[in-house]
Amino acid sequence: MNTPIRILIHGSSGRMGQALQRLGKQPASGCQVVAAVARRVDLRVVDGIPQFAASELSGVPDFDVAIDFSLPQGFDAILQLCLARKAALVSGTTGLSEAQQAALAAASERIPLIWASNFSLGVAVLHDLVERAASMLQGWDCDIVEAHHTRKQDAPSGTALTLGRSAEAGGAHPHYASIRAGDIVGEHLVQFTSAGERIELVHRAHNRDIFASGALHVAQRLHTRPPGQYQVSELLK
Ligand code: NAD
Repeated sequence: MNTPIRILIHGSSGRMGQALQRLGKQPASGCQVVAAVARRVDLRVVDGIPQFAASELSGVPDFDVAIDFSLPQGFDAILQLCLARKAALVSGTTGLSEAQQAALAAASERIPLIWASNFSLGVAVLHDLVERAASMLQGWDCDIVEAHHTRKQDAPSGTALTLGRSAEAGGAHPHYASIRAGDIVGEHLVQFTSAGERIELVHRAHNRDIFASGALHVAQRLHTRPPGQYQVSELLK
């Protein structure tokens, strides 16, 4: 059996972080979670996984890949730590500023990294379908409607915005609408409408494990790559 890769989970107490800790602990994951990091007020004990407050980030043990599902205010620190430790970074944190996206691009000259608004295989395929549909439906209206739980902070979702870029690549000009309701994990509808007919492409996430297992899978494939910024479609499909 291969040596497990050493993982740091950043944002470990959140909805995504808890799924990552649970799946990352399973021997079949091929990972060893060496550190879980969250805001001190949010920290919880998880058997077998050392927990650290974000303010103690510089003291974490060595790791091969950091998996970051935190909030934009925590992003700069984990990027700097990965650069200092020459470790790879998998980030799914949405709502990053333009300056943070530029810092990510600059860091990719020194470490392998991937940022994606969605780590599910279904959404990776949906991107291809949307671009193809847009290129075949010139002049049709394109609308992207996303629905998430009420505690999601950014809108439109990062996935809606990246689906919009796929639609634009096919020549469409998308409009966005957001719904915040109950405990919806994540739904994205991309709709193409003309006078008289409509095509709907929909992805529904039933749980967060699809994102967490996608991120763990990508981490396995990323850590041996040379520095660069990779796409989820090339590492997940
Ligand atoms: P959450 O609010 O449940 O958890 C946030 C976590 O980040 C907590 O552990 C919190 O302690 C930590 N945190 C907050 N500020 C921090 C800081 N300054 N330093 C370090 N840690 C800090 O959020 P969530 O629902 O788990 O989502 C986390 C992020 O992942 C969001 O940006 C969300 O949009 C995104 N997300 C991405 C995908 C994807 O596939 N890319 C899927 C789901 C969610």
